[in-house]
Amino acid sequence: MKANCWYDQYDVRVEDVPDPKILDPRDAVVKITSTAICGSDLHLYDGYIPTMEKGDILGHEFMGEVVETGPQVKNLKRGDRVVVPFPISCGDCFFCKRQLFSLCENSNPNAAVAEKLWGHSPCGIFGYSHSLGGYAGGQAQYARVPFADVGPMKIENDLPDEQVLFLSDILPTGYMAAENCNIEPGDTVAVWGCGPVGQFAIKSAYLLGAERVIAIDRFPERLRMASEKAGAETINYEETSTLKTLNEMTGGRGPDSCIDAVGMEAHSCGIVGIYDRVKQATMSETERPQALREAILACRKGGTVSVPGVYGGLADKIPLGAIVNKALTVKSGQTHVHRYMRPLLERIEKGEIDPSFVITHTMSLDDAPKGYEIFQKKQDECIKIVLKPWANGLLEHDAKNGA
Ligand SMILES: [Zn+2]
Ligand SMILES: [Zn+2]
Repeated sequence: MKANCWYDQYDVRVEDVPDPKILDPRDAVVKITSTAICGSDLHLYDGYIPTMEKGDILGHEFMGEVVETGPQVKNLKRGDRVVVPFPISCGDCFFCKRQLFSLCENSNPNAAVAEKLWGHSPCGIFGYSHSLGGYAGGQAQYARVPFADVGPMKIENDLPDEQVLFLSDILPTGYMAAENCNIEPGDTVAVWGCGPVGQFAIKSAYLLGAERVIAIDRFPERLRMASEKAGAETINYEETSTLKTLNEMTGGRGPDSCIDAVGMEAHSCGIVGIYDRVKQATMSETERPQALREAILACRKGGTVSVPGVYGGLADKIPLGAIVNKALTVKSGQTHVHRYMRPLLERIEKGEIDPSFVITHTMSLDDAPKGYEIFQKKQDECIKIVLKPWANGLLEHDAKNGA
């Protein structure tokens, strides 16, 4: 089969690799009809996530058709259409029983590596380094899905892939980020980063009762989408001081909750940005946490800072004093996707949200290297790329949606 493989920083290649096989009685093999490139894949592409090996198959957002099941998978059969959640979870352990699926204790065979970094290991994740399990990802024509009796959700409507694919990650991730804010009616929520997760965090904040959502970014096309499609008020941080503007917009009090949907590769202006770039380049800091710093400083006293953005290691100059003295709550975590798939599918079916609005590009899998490049460089107003593994080059000159 064809798969998009990681080789090095800025080097991914579509190659012929062996088809996946059932290795465990709880496995299924899925023929992938749609897959996507995630903002968190860029951290791999940019070389910031350790324990990647040459030839690793990328991708953790995918859906398709079941072609084979292990003998213990009773809930799925050949031909079922499924969306696969990015966390790999056993369904039986202490954490899975508490619906904390991304903390599963049984799905990361390389937990010892993660334990050295973080004290304890989260679950295994498709296509996301050997420290998170070394699982082959879904930017491929087929994938092996472990614990298939727990993870994949059957899609029994005729909604197109584009409307349900993002149940695999970014829609639940944006939703959990908003849910972590404990939004009360009338609240104002600020969202740093208008990538796809930021867009869904905005939408979800409204669904959960926020009165105002203020979105912060610097790319005009992202701010436009946040405003026109997700309904946010917007701040371009290159044109104005974010903190000052947020204070002015909230009568001096600050937003009730702040969501950092940027993560470890934040861009920032001025001396702090230079400081982070130097420290990250010399490996004495793994993150450039500018969005998180601002979210903490902007948040109103007693408010919540929610962090769906990906961080991997150590960060400098986090205003801990602000967290303590303003009595802030900080919530984070890899998304417990399994918990959100069904309720969010129902919201899609009812027409409360149509996640396909974030898609700017559809390409064949063969074009994945080009996709990574334009996404990384933020070229061509790229916000979200869907890859079609079976397009056989039909989409060679990629369809730019809406163009
Ligand atoms: Zn993702
Ligand atoms: Zn588990």
